[in-house]
Amino acid sequence: MKLTILGSGTSHGVPVIGCSCPTCLSEDPRDNRSNASLLIESGGQNILIDCGRDFRQQALRHQLGRVDCILLTHTHFDHVAGIDDLRVFSRRGHPIPLFGSPAHLNYLKTYIYHYLFDPTIQRGGGVTELDLVAVDERFLLAGLLFETLPAWHGELEVFGYKFGGCAYLSDVSRVPKATLQKLYNLEVLVLGALRHAPHPTHFTISQALELASEVKPRRLYLTHLCHDVLHEQTEQSFEKKGGPYHTGLEAHLAYDGLRIEL
Ligand SMILES: [Zn+2]
Ligand SMILES: [Zn+2]
Ligand SMILES: [Zn+2]
Repeated sequence: MKLTILGSGTSHGVPVIGCSCPTCLSEDPRDNRSNASLLIESGGQNILIDCGRDFRQQALRHQLGRVDCILLTHTHFDHVAGIDDLRVFSRRGHPIPLFGSPAHLNYLKTYIYHYLFDPTIQRGGGVTELDLVAVDERFLLAGLLFETLPAWHGELEVFGYKFGGCAYLSDVSRVPKATLQKLYNLEVLVLGALRHAPHPTHFTISQALELASEVKPRRLYLTHLCHDVLHEQTEQSFEKKGGPYHTGLEAHLAYDGLRIEL
């Protein structure tokens, strides 16, 4: 199994339009962040977790030749806006399975992508054909057992996913006990951490490190980062003994294009 961080940024992306802060002006390519998304390659299949507004560029950059299914964490636009571009991968009669919580699938169908499910709509240029699959706790996919990781993103319940010794939880500000129990003994944990300062709907870097220190994954990658986080400087602070970000874990910031081999 191979993981690729297709995007490591928050909804605005980095650089932010009109911003001239050090991260937005940085020449380090790791400070260039598109909307958060993960590609899982397993058993010859390409599985996407989320499909945000930067999906088209991500797919071109990685020469993505197929998408076999999508797992949805929630329906914020930075996680679903690329679904329209999936039409090149879906053929009429061969819809792409999209897995998610019943509430999020219902919201997606009713409010965001109503036209995809309207049989009366003119289908000239083609539309993405989706097969919505509501999931609860666990399901099998590409020879892997997936488990949902319900968590809180402010007041919104979202899903993370656990599979093959890895877990991905991108937009999160509180993790309930039942989900925390599932995060022990991981090989890889990809966890959302927006910035240094507190935020009502996302973990800070400190909060994410605190959770990771409890469950102790062998490798930790922080994702869904905003422009307050300068890559090189923050990475170095993970190593600084006695510093606020030192945990003793193998901790990194994710960046666009990062490949994680397992
Ligand atoms: Zn997000
Ligand atoms: Zn900036
Ligand atoms: Zn969100």
